[in-house]
Amino acid sequence: MEKLKIYNSLTQKKEIFKPITEGFVGMYVCGPTVYSNVHLGNVRTFMSFDMIYRYLKHIGYKVRYVRNITDAGHLTDDNSEDKISTKARLEKLEPMEIVQKYTVDFHKVLDKFNLLPPNIEPTATGHILEQIETIQKILDNGLAYVVNGSVYFDVLKYNETEHYGILSKRVIEDAIENTRALDGQSDKKNPQDFALWKKAEPEHIQRWNSPWSVGFPGWHLECTVMSTKYLGNQFDIHGGGMDLKFPHHECEIAQAKACNHVDPVNYWMHTNMLTLNGKKMSKSTGNHILPSEIYEGTSKFLSKPFSPSATRFFMMQAHYSSILDLSNDALLASEKGYNRLMEALQIVDYLEPSDTSDFNIQQWRKKCYDAMNDDFNTPVLIAHLFDAVKHINLIKDKKEKISKQDLELLSKTLKDFTFDVLGLENNAIKEDNQDILKGVIEMLIDMRAEAKANKNYALSDEIRDKLKELGVQLKDSREGTTFSIIN
Ligand code: AMP
Ligand code: ZN
Repeated sequence: MEKLKIYNSLTQKKEIFKPITEGFVGMYVCGPTVYSNVHLGNVRTFMSFDMIYRYLKHIGYKVRYVRNITDAGHLTDDNSEDKISTKARLEKLEPMEIVQKYTVDFHKVLDKFNLLPPNIEPTATGHILEQIETIQKILDNGLAYVVNGSVYFDVLKYNETEHYGILSKRVIEDAIENTRALDGQSDKKNPQDFALWKKAEPEHIQRWNSPWSVGFPGWHLECTVMSTKYLGNQFDIHGGGMDLKFPHHECEIAQAKACNHVDPVNYWMHTNMLTLNGKKMSKSTGNHILPSEIYEGTSKFLSKPFSPSATRFFMMQAHYSSILDLSNDALLASEKGYNRLMEALQIVDYLEPSDTSDFNIQQWRKKCYDAMNDDFNTPVLIAHLFDAVKHINLIKDKKEKISKQDLELLSKTLKDFTFDVLGLENNAIKEDNQDILKGVIEMLIDMRAEAKANKNYALSDEIRDKLKELGVQLKDSREGTTFSIIN
């Protein structure tokens, strides 16, 4: 089997993955800023890392997966205010009410799409003290300065001995060009310097004491602090969407090096964007889909609802590093493929084995692992899974044979990749279960009616009471008995 290779944005090469500690992986992914509902584009990024987390675990690594919640410090584009504070003021809510509302929404959405929770989900507001300590260290190391109660990272000074731009491959002069237009503040020595701590204006609601002012931490800082706190000063994987590479991740590297004198991350991974009908998904232009609109079918862009699992399948059909365009036609095509895969999974355990096999399962299985070991290539993996689907259908039609041992391996491998690695769920089985449950309850209702007709009230009451204990409430009326599920 091929060794696991990961495309490292830092070196711009696919590299053989070598964890710092054999058998263990530390992975940090930038989480959401919880000031509004996540859109489907955000979901794609978190789903890509969920697949990566699942696969690392599947091949035997013990993974510590940390994904933060940004609940303070993420400034608006003109850098004048914090996104959460702005929203809190507009909605006349406590900032923590905003944070709670959208954190709950975020978790609900990810659960719908069957994403596993991370092992640690730290919040920026829960780590203010650690952020203050880190700022102090950077000041002590001479790479930050204080102006009017705010603390800024000194990019030019840092760049004298280190390379600001190492990740984004930007030349510092370009960075100066890019930041000048956005910057209206005179506090900074140079426009490309970024805030580690900002003094709070009187209207700013989220504020904490610090040695420099009553204020709040800069956004880039929280990720440096929380990743190194839980994963060590050097850890294996750091991920996020492509758009976070600069300035966010570039600043993270600079802060960590300025504080701890070592490169914080061995493998930087960046996932690509989800577009809608060929255009960037964005809230401001209205060209976006909320996760609920896809499974409730309420989006004007879609002809029908699509289940979270069929949507997940659609996303897994693209490599995480490619742009993926969402459209009604693309979803319809993916849904067909998803259904075909699920049908094959439902019949695989009922196939009749023979003495010999007509195709080489070991070789097929190796191809599946090789695809995933080649930088988590899910589209190639899915093509191999469909190869298995083709064989399953031929075996069902008695046009091909498979041995008992091979059949067991085929079934296990197909299920492992579909459910454990790609994180798909079988909607058909869920719906079938609903039908089975309804059938069983109706059968018990009939048996209870028969017991009553025979004056066997002890039995009819027992059926009613036991069903109630299980959460099934029966209701008798002149037309007959109906039921409702009460929990
Ligand atoms: P934010 O809450 O804005 O920091 O975004 C959370 C994550 O979603 C980040 O990793 C972004 O890079 C990612 N993201 C934002 N827009 C998209 C998009 N259209 N497609 C994929 N990922 C996105
Ligand atoms: Zn981050």
